Amino acid sequence: MLFTQSFGEEVRIHALQTGTVAVKKAHFQYTGPERLRMPFILLDPRWVAPMPIWTWLVETPFGKYLIDAGETTHFFKKDHFKDQVEAFVNRSILKIKIKEEEVLHRQLAVLGLSPNQLDLVVFTHLHLDHVDGVRHLNGVECWVHQEEWRRPFGVPFSALPSSFQPKLMDLPDEDEVFAQSRKIDDWVDLIPTPGHTYGHQSVRIRTSEYTIILAGDATFTEAQLRQNRVGGIHVDRHLSRATIKKLQLFCGMEGNVIYLPSHDPESAYRLVNKVCTCL
Ligand SMILES: [Zn+2]
Repeated sequence: MLFTQSFGEEVRIHALQTGTVAVKKAHFQYTGPERLRMPFILLDPRWVAPMPIWTWLVETPFGKYLIDAGETTHFFKKDHFKDQVEAFVNRSILKIKIKEEEVLHRQLAVLGLSPNQLDLVVFTHLHLDHVDGVRHLNGVECWVHQEEWRRPFGVPFSALPSSFQPKLMDLPDEDEVFAQSRKIDDWVDLIPTPGHTYGHQSVRIRTSEYTIILAGDATFTEAQLRQNRVGGIHVDRHLSRATIKKLQLFCGMEGNVIYLPSHDPESAYRLVNKVCTCL
């Protein structure tokens, strides 16, 4: 499914849904003892309703940037994971559904684009449902935060194609709220949003009227941001909490922020209707 919104003459953002993912309830929200969190998630028999897997195409006068690569039907192949532990964990905690026509390159084709017309793919982080579609983007430059690669948490390395050799980036520019950032062009920059993983980053797009944050899994939904709730799965709960505080502060200061997490069923609605998160 595809949704598009323009911001002035210069910026256009497309939401592309690459299937759905259901997770255990404890994965979505967990409040028990920290040391029991992972076993609890693995053993939890309760599942949340399937959530969309959004990826984003951002167009500015400087380029076409894809944010995350979503899922792929290749996931269903028996040999998708070369490592059996990765296969067990990912297949135990994620219920993926995706049709062939929802795979990224098929949706890009609907927009009249082939992958080699993309200027850049930026990953918020490298969890399976954000990176798996990269096998359909051969040859496109990929950026990953260096911490995501060097201090991985849940990265399914054995499912990644050997051609995936991302550029490892830091965030060298200063930022008032997030301390660091990396400018991509006059409209788009990256900000650190760690906690879900060490190298988790979000994409910020500043237009004359609105600022859009493509938030990855900083929170699973906008409600989690408003209600100050850390998602159930993260590498560091305190980092996640600090990230939520900074995102809340930023939304409050700017007053015009459209906050779009990767798994919020309402993200496309908020993009298309320019719904801001008021805190
Ligand atoms: Zn994730």
